[in-house]
Amino acid sequence: MDSAEYLPEPGARFENVKPFGSRTDVGYVREHNEDNLLVAPPLYVVCDGMGGHEGGEVASEIAVDTIARCAPSELDAEGLGHAVEEANLAVIQAARDGVGKEGMGTTCTAAMLEGEKMVIAQVGDSRAYLLHNGVLQQITRDHSVVADLVESGEISPAQARTHQWRSYITRALGLDPYMQADLYEINVAAGDRLMLCSDGLYSMVPDEGISEILQTVANPQDAADVLVDEALAGGGSDNITVVVVDVTGYSPQKTRKIVRRGKMTAVLIIALMVAIIGMGAAAFGFWINNSAYLGEQDGKVVIYRGVPGDFFGMKFSNLEEFTDVQVDQLQAVLPGPASRLREEGIACDSLDAAKSLVSDYKREIAKKGGGSSAGASAGGASDPSSSSSSDSSASVASSSSSAAASE
Ligand code: CA
Repeated sequence: MDSAEYLPEPGARFENVKPFGSRTDVGYVREHNEDNLLVAPPLYVVCDGMGGHEGGEVASEIAVDTIARCAPSELDAEGLGHAVEEANLAVIQAARDGVGKEGMGTTCTAAMLEGEKMVIAQVGDSRAYLLHNGVLQQITRDHSVVADLVESGEISPAQARTHQWRSYITRALGLDPYMQADLYEINVAAGDRLMLCSDGLYSMVPDEGISEILQTVANPQDAADVLVDEALAGGGSDNITVVVVDVTGYSPQKTRKIVRRGKMTAVLIIALMVAIIGMGAAAFGFWINNSAYLGEQDGKVVIYRGVPGDFFGMKFSNLEEFTDVQVDQLQAVLPGPASRLREEGIACDSLDAAKSLVSDYKREIAKKGGGSSAGASAGGASDPSSSSSSDSSASVASSSSSAAASE
């Protein structure tokens, strides 16, 4: 049995009893532990890798390392989200470089807790729970097929636990360069308890059991141990990882001085400031006029001239072209881009790049219809490496499966 415990970075000081504990265990069935965790107050991370031996554990380790490096020094949900997105790109790049395995991926539940404030960035089906006033609450929403089925009322939470699709996740690091993390910002209170875990825990121990252990075992390290023991007693059919953190209400001594803010947001805002203040209205108009993005209207992909979203309450876009690409069809082939398109739009460098991206989508959909599922290589103007920002260039995600099996 493989068990590892990660200690906080040297210099993190607490009173005699540390307000956190953690444990990861390979379980009884799997040969390798593909989970990884990080405990580096105020940052706590659980990643559940997938892709088999030399795939899953590589992906989850890269993710944890990247988040440790890129996480903001202060509590900042968006900054934490960017760190997770950096980790996503790092996993994708590693696979391209021949590190790990093609198609490897990982879930990620990353939390920062300081004083009575907490932020979480979430991807996949590992979870964050909060015990507050004796009530256990699942904070994060799983990105999984069964979570969608439960939400749409098709199956009950109890059925989800045994459903044949329970291990299929709909969002993960390592598959889609445009992947974004769900962000949560939560006020917590002294006496609350945060618990992060991989599905190896909650698939073996029902929430009532988790709740009881978190309420009755005082020391967080003991609580983490008992939770893992309980999952092993329940069968241990998957890797099990648990991080337990007590909310003390005071901020731990900060030892991490890694400052790295969300690149894209900063770049965009600076670009706008420069555009508005420096270049003047005419140049700004030219820039807007020469940008494009993809969005959704009436279930179809549409091309807009301009930039998505609004800035300081103003919109800078016009509908340019209706395409015949159905977003539902795109969803089945490239779920990441389809979701982004629906939610906030996909920015492109130019109208041509937007049109080329639509052509790529058509090709992917046609290919899927023909039974092939290989990722599209951008034949036109959409080369992801041609732009310094992965977010602003147009390219096709290499992921073509609608769901990934988490292990
Ligand atoms: Ca797992």
